[in-house]
Amino acid sequence: MWHILGAGSLGTLWATRLARAGLPVQLILRDQARLQSYQHAGGLTLIEQGQAQHYPIAAQTTEHPQPIQRLLLACKAYDAAPAVAQLTHRLSPGAEILLLQNGLGSQDEVAREAPHARCIMASSTEGAFRQADFQVVFAGHGHTWLGDPLDLQPPAWLADLRKAGIAHEWSLDILSRLWRKLALNCAINPLTVLHDCQNGGLREHPAHVACLCSELVELLQQCGHCAAAENLLEDVQRVIEATAANYSSMHQDVSQGRRTEIAYLLGYACNAGQRHQLPLPHLQALHNQLLAHLNARGLPSH
Ligand code: NAP
Repeated sequence: MWHILGAGSLGTLWATRLARAGLPVQLILRDQARLQSYQHAGGLTLIEQGQAQHYPIAAQTTEHPQPIQRLLLACKAYDAAPAVAQLTHRLSPGAEILLLQNGLGSQDEVAREAPHARCIMASSTEGAFRQADFQVVFAGHGHTWLGDPLDLQPPAWLADLRKAGIAHEWSLDILSRLWRKLALNCAINPLTVLHDCQNGGLREHPAHVACLCSELVELLQQCGHCAAAENLLEDVQRVIEATAANYSSMHQDVSQGRRTEIAYLLGYACNAGQRHQLPLPHLQALHNQLLAHLNARGLPSH
């Protein structure tokens, strides 16, 4: 059984593909009110290439007593540990938790909440967004890397992902992948918020992007992720070009008045620098500016 917490963008993307491959799926929703609106909607809708498909997947609240063997955690990074805390009493011995959160930091928080579960980390380039409650658009095909730094053996259920058509790879160095993605995010997303621009708008700020990248390279090397530091600036420039017309996820969050995952992205990078006593003046200044920007809009800074 796949228990999936969070019927948002990625939760829906995973739940619907697993269910249509004939695999058993149970959604976990936050409370009775959410469950009632889900029942009213009659299931999840996934929209692919303009075609909507409806999936009446079973759902329960966090309070349901059913034991959980495999949990796909599909909430935001700041919700991950509190969500798992509500479910620890339901986790079976040998339970596995698959973590879809962007950034770093939430994975350790979850592992502290559920010390006996195996935590498998994921980094995904798939893209999806909520068009309405329980209706999700599959916007960008991509790839998902999965890995467990504490146990390099892949889990047997990767066969389920193959069956469900979820493009994936077992990674022996998932932390490097997560760090690289975090570094790309730190070099691009905060600046797009502060300059209120699409990713392509950063072509106007090459020196600032280059300064941030050189600090990020030092940080990655200091944290032992030299492979993740290779050609970072070139990769950042490539992403800026390839996604020039897109608004970054952080820009979208801020412009729609939603909480950002800053504490698990730029905030995490700055804290890691402090832990290693590595001065990161440009990243720190960017963090301070971003916090002030969020504060001025009444958005949380953590
Ligand atoms: P999302 O659309 O906001 O969905 C998060 C879901 O988690 C919401 O449905 C929310 O419930 C649910 N949730 C939060 N706390 C819960 C709890 N205690 N119990 C039950 N449900 C709970 O977020 P997302 O876009 O899927 O993002 C999830 C993670 O994936 C983020 O870290 C994001 O950065 C990462 N990611 C997303 C994409 C993408 O394209 N969307 C791509 C790559 C990575 P409510 O509906 O009740 O609020």
